[in-house]
Amino acid sequence: MSELRSRADELDAADALATLRGRFALDDTVYLDGNSLGALPAHVPARIADVVSREWGELRIRSWEESGWWTAPERIGDRIAPLVGAAPGQIVVGDSTSVNVFKALVAAVRMAGEDRDEILVDATTFPTDGYIAASAARMTGRTLRPVTPAEVPSALGGRTAAVLLNHVDYRTGELHDLPALTAAVRAAGAQVVWDLCHSAGALPVGLDEHGVGLAVGCTYKYLNGGPGSPAYLYVRRDLQDRFDSPLPGWNSHAEPFGMRPEYAPAPGAPRGRVGTPDILSMLALEAALDVWDGVRIEAVREKSLALTDFFLRCVDAYVPGGRVESLTPSAHAERGSQVALRCAPAEGVPDAAEVMRRLIARGVVGDFRRPDVLRFGFTPLYVGFADVERAARVLGEVLRETA
Ligand SMILES: *Cc1c(COP(=O)(O)O)cnc(C)c1O
Repeated sequence: MSELRSRADELDAADALATLRGRFALDDTVYLDGNSLGALPAHVPARIADVVSREWGELRIRSWEESGWWTAPERIGDRIAPLVGAAPGQIVVGDSTSVNVFKALVAAVRMAGEDRDEILVDATTFPTDGYIAASAARMTGRTLRPVTPAEVPSALGGRTAAVLLNHVDYRTGELHDLPALTAAVRAAGAQVVWDLCHSAGALPVGLDEHGVGLAVGCTYKYLNGGPGSPAYLYVRRDLQDRFDSPLPGWNSHAEPFGMRPEYAPAPGAPRGRVGTPDILSMLALEAALDVWDGVRIEAVREKSLALTDFFLRCVDAYVPGGRVESLTPSAHAERGSQVALRCAPAEGVPDAAEVMRRLIARGVVGDFRRPDVLRFGFTPLYVGFADVERAARVLGEVLRETA
């Protein structure tokens, strides 16, 4: 056995989180795409069957009360809260990340003075955030200015109304300095909105500790909520009374069943709700969150770094020199839970998209991001070190092949 394979076995034997894999429905595929769609927790199908056949099928309308459907958005928000370092009562679940980016960003701008006429947006952002920010700027009469996260401190000033940032870059896996950037935005008198899609469930976020104002994130990546599971919105407690939603639907009304013509916002986190929640997806997410019982996010982070370190070491050993280049920072403080390898096109060898197709055909699932990036996500709850070694070994084999 090679040295790296025995090292993988040692690391797996010493891994305190190794047994968590048993909480998921998995086969012997090496699944490194949990940063796109988390794996299925094994008990979720039975829970969904019960929601459909008993709660919907038998209790019908009674379930809004008796099965706790109506309060699910804030109840499940409180389940996510400890994973992102938030005290209860500040997170509500519902709608997509895109919709929550819109709510949070417009509300952030509405909290700023009229003289603050600029919105800063992460120029390297996942496209949806940029599209939504452009529309939010147009609607609120502000100018949108794309800047890299590193440029944010010098771009801030008296004109800044709000800043929309990603905690982890979806492409490179770079982790941005949330505490320092949040402090800088606050010092400039503006509001920050953090998108946590690629960090929540992979590393500690510390929303309360670092004084974040607003944050959003999806639940189908590291939180394993299922395809299209609803996103969440965090509004810091002291900002909730000032949260003026651009989508004030009846679910966010102080008295939803009062059926009044005038709008009066609910206090607290439910103010971020809009319309009737998608109960099936939401309750699948709630059940999926059970896999976190007894799991410390700090331990997840420690394993995540060990996995990505080991992957980079195996890639170094197995991949022919010069075929790939890591875009992911080597410093732990700057690394999320994924490794992005640039696989430059060259004569006679498969391009990045073809490399990923061949990897998937051999049971190593990552994803391809245009134009030439191989992306591998490491979900510490169910990925082990032997998986990592196998992924790098198969990658080395594929990269020795001809086109
Ligand atoms: C995955 C992801 C999204 C997804 O947005 P949806 O509205 O849930 O489709 C948004 N932002 C970032 C940074 C993401 O990584």
